[in-house]
Amino acid sequence: MSLTLTRPELVRSHNFIAGLWRDALSGGRHPVSDPATGAEFANVPDSAAADAQAAADAAHAAFDSWRDRTARERAQFLKRWHAAIVANGEDLARIISREQGKPLAEARGEVAYGASYVEWFAEEAVRAYGDMIPALMPGKRMMAVKEPVGVVAAVTPWNFPLAMIARKIAPALAAGCTVVAKPAEDTPLTALALVRLAEEAGLPAGVLNIVTASRGQTPATVASWLADPRVRKITFTGSTPVGKYLARESADTLKKLSLELGGNAPFIVFDDADLDAAVTGLMAAKFRNGGQTCVCPNRVYVQSGIYDAFARKLVERVAALRVGPATRDDSQIGPMINARAVEKIERHVEDALAHGATVLTGGRRLSGDGLDGPNYYAPTVLGDANREMALFSEETFGPVAPLFKFDDDADVIREANDTPFGLAAYFYSTDVRRIWRVASRLESGVIGINEGAVSSEAAPFGGVKESGYGREGSRYGLDDYMHVKYLCQGGL
Ligand code: NAD
Repeated sequence: MSLTLTRPELVRSHNFIAGLWRDALSGGRHPVSDPATGAEFANVPDSAAADAQAAADAAHAAFDSWRDRTARERAQFLKRWHAAIVANGEDLARIISREQGKPLAEARGEVAYGASYVEWFAEEAVRAYGDMIPALMPGKRMMAVKEPVGVVAAVTPWNFPLAMIARKIAPALAAGCTVVAKPAEDTPLTALALVRLAEEAGLPAGVLNIVTASRGQTPATVASWLADPRVRKITFTGSTPVGKYLARESADTLKKLSLELGGNAPFIVFDDADLDAAVTGLMAAKFRNGGQTCVCPNRVYVQSGIYDAFARKLVERVAALRVGPATRDDSQIGPMINARAVEKIERHVEDALAHGATVLTGGRRLSGDGLDGPNYYAPTVLGDANREMALFSEETFGPVAPLFKFDDDADVIREANDTPFGLAAYFYSTDVRRIWRVASRLESGVIGINEGAVSSEAAPFGGVKESGYGREGSRYGLDDYMHVKYLCQGGL
């Protein structure tokens, strides 16, 4: 699969530190591979702690002058960056598809979605208001102002290589922070292209720095930021074990943390639901990005009276999904990101079958018929799922929808909450009393009510329990990059 771009120079092969494109100090390189076949098509620096340190030095040196710019100046830079992302959207979509494997139409959607955060935070930058506080004693003025936290380290996953990093960098820069970033090892090219566009939009040297690293070098690279007292915040999206590790390791310097971690989303269909709307909602929530989305429903609960009818309608839609390479215009599900990902899906399906599940459609790898490579998995619906199965407690992160049958509202809420995770939850019902009751009982940071597509730059996104803390998007997303300073003036 070739990568044909209008502007080939957007494919970068160096780190960006202090305004310069540089090799890793060791000269080491790290391959970027086609998700379908595993064949290398590009390479980037395999950075180590020394490169990460150079990036932190640059971000630290740039901090005072960036924070001292007016909010309007920072907003103007973000608006130019947003315009550059939109203008180069087709090239960015091609880079995303190439390294991540999602169909081009979805990659275009991701560009628009990621860009929306840059625009949003350009607008929010000028609204980081504080408070005048009524003084309780004469002769005093009391106020609370918001200030940028300082140097921010951003570490991001591969599933949305543009949106995940944009929604961290944009609020950080809007708040007046400077940034060091490390994209996922599988998908560094999109992040580097974004930084190239930021450079073209007039990014001052040192304000945004990026280093790439292999899976082997990543821990040492990030550890150098964890230990650095000048790095005041870690913002991370990825798996819960890595999030916990970051929380532990940043304790010595007490950094501020935003952790967007794994999920195990329930999707509940009550017997009074509009079944067609519920199926459409599930298709959007479950099968987008091949099911490799942290807010993907992992457990689908269907009330017994409508179970058969719902399963029939769902299977019809899922069986019609077209699996294919990102380049084919009609593909709806691309390859999984790598061999590890497909192996996990296979393990979950085999385990479910061993515990009594039935395959209603899919349930196997796909090959041949234009599918080049071993990483394609058929969109799958499993019936008769139960809590003994690994997929009850672990995120599958693939195109598998297991159906659990339930009878009682209280039981299903207890089951839905019976997980350490709490990122997203969805339910379908037309009973307004049930809607409020269930929405207040589900332990989740994000709830879709008769809606499968919940993400928006205007909404606070984030989890509870072991899905992490911190919020991205909305005005809360800007607050996460600021602290509150209290000023008390006396003698008036
Ligand atoms: P991952 O945790 O393995 O990797 C995420 C990032 O952390 C990558 O950049 C990786 O290089 C880095 N990393 C890995 N090990 C590290 C270490 N020891 N020290 C420092 N950094 C390290 O996760 P992944 O496989 O890339 O992504 C899938 C996971 O991310 C899923 O669990 C999914 O639910 C979660 N996710 C969450 C959200 C969200 O918003 N909550 C969004 C997307 C993905």
